[in-house]
Amino acid sequence: MYKLIDGRAHSSAMREEIKSAALDFKEKFGRNVGLAVVLVGEDPASQVYVRNKIKGCEETGIKSFAYYLPADAEQSQVEELVKQLASSGEVDGILVQLPVPAHIDATAVLSLIPVEKDVDGFCESNMGSLCMNEPCLVACTPNGVMRMLEREGIELKGKRAVVVGRSNIVGKPMAMLLLNADATVTVCHSKTRDLKDICSEADILVAAIGRAKYITADMVKWGAVVVDVGMNRDKNGKLCGDVDFEGVKDKCSYITPVPGGVGPMTITMLLSNTVQAACRRMQK
Ligand code: NAP
Repeated sequence: MYKLIDGRAHSSAMREEIKSAALDFKEKFGRNVGLAVVLVGEDPASQVYVRNKIKGCEETGIKSFAYYLPADAEQSQVEELVKQLASSGEVDGILVQLPVPAHIDATAVLSLIPVEKDVDGFCESNMGSLCMNEPCLVACTPNGVMRMLEREGIELKGKRAVVVGRSNIVGKPMAMLLLNADATVTVCHSKTRDLKDICSEADILVAAIGRAKYITADMVKWGAVVVDVGMNRDKNGKLCGDVDFEGVKDKCSYITPVPGGVGPMTITMLLSNTVQAACRRMQK
């Protein structure tokens, strides 16, 4: 019988811890932890994400600073704003909601976020530190996966882990985190041969592909822990993951559902990174 990993329950327990850490910070330093969120344009999905991030801040006692720039904002305007936030004493974390409109050079904008305020964990320096297994701000989604595995008491040391997907924001940092936790890690991608055979060897299988129900029961080892990062729509428009949940679940020891698995942890990890960034900055 499989155990469902309840991302909503983990997330809400963690938010209580974050709230209490944010309150301690305020008592100690006389101000709130601050997160700046920058949205360029009116992409509806991005608007929802930004709203949820601001709501998460309100829930945990983090002060949010929201900046909405029009879709035709110039590169210099966006860069100027990020530079101001970079030097602001009240802002501990800066998040530029991606994707930005096509005429904006996202890499140039992100490079202006100082490493200590890079609460998304996307900058080269934080990614490099992750590879070196040094303390850093870690990308929220893979960090959330690790926290759920940890909270479930799932042992990773010596386990065979397979990560399907190698994006800079999910697959690569996920693989590094698992490696740093002493798992033996294989990373797969669209050019991988024998994907089914490789996945079938995984004790821990993480799917971060972006293809609805792509991981089927014949790709899963009996007793595997299956983590589904994917967020897709099936042919009826219903939200679903990269894993064929119904087909796979009975082979698993643990499995995350979609929705209600990895998703709820992502914003929670952003809030956690923001408090962590604030504490580190003040200690300096
Ligand atoms: P991405 O940048 O599009 O990367 C997808 C990865 O999957 C790529 O590395 C790609 O390989 C690989 N891939 C695609 N088709 C494949 C196939 N047939 N076999 C093996 N590998 C294949 O996507 P992402 O940003 O990492 O996101 C992945 C999924 O997670 C999406 O569904 C996204 O919506 C979801 N997501 C969820 C959260 C959350 O909070 N729950 C956060 C972020 C992302 P190549 O590198 O060879 O192209």
